[in-house]
Amino acid sequence: MRREPPLPQQLWDRIPPDIQPALRVLIEGYECRIGALEAEVAELKERLKQNSRNSSRPPSADPPAVKRKPPREPSGRQRGAQPGHPRPERSLVPVEQVKAVVPCKPTHCRRCGGALQGTDPQPLRHQVIEVPLPTAARVAPRPADANLWDKRTSCCEQ
Ligand SMILES: [Zn+2]
Repeated sequence: MRREPPLPQQLWDRIPPDIQPALRVLIEGYECRIGALEAEVAELKERLKQNSRNSSRPPSADPPAVKRKPPREPSGRQRGAQPGHPRPERSLVPVEQVKAVVPCKPTHCRRCGGALQGTDPQPLRHQVIEVPLPTAARVAPRPADANLWDKRTSCCEQ
């Protein structure tokens, strides 16, 4: 198979045949390096076009010519959750399914120390779930119910 000479045929034929292979190797080596450099230049040119609007670059790294997006108009709404947004909370496990109910009934007012009487018909319920250790038998966690009684004496009712 005869390869195309790297120079015009007339010129190539004037090069001594024992020099031709060395010249081919040299030229092929340069062509290979030029190809790699061209690919690198193309990639770097592509990177030069990047800015904060078409890549993940921060706006602080933008050249001065890049126009900034105007700040968004305020929506007029408050920050955070909007009115009527459902409260994110875990629903309580029914009393029949809890392991234990622990009544936390204070006997004395914590402000004045006065004795407390009566019961709260709807005490604040607080559930504590103990997660079993990974080595323990697989038991579904059962919450314990604590009834926090809210009793007030007439002395410090507000
Ligand atoms: Zn009190």
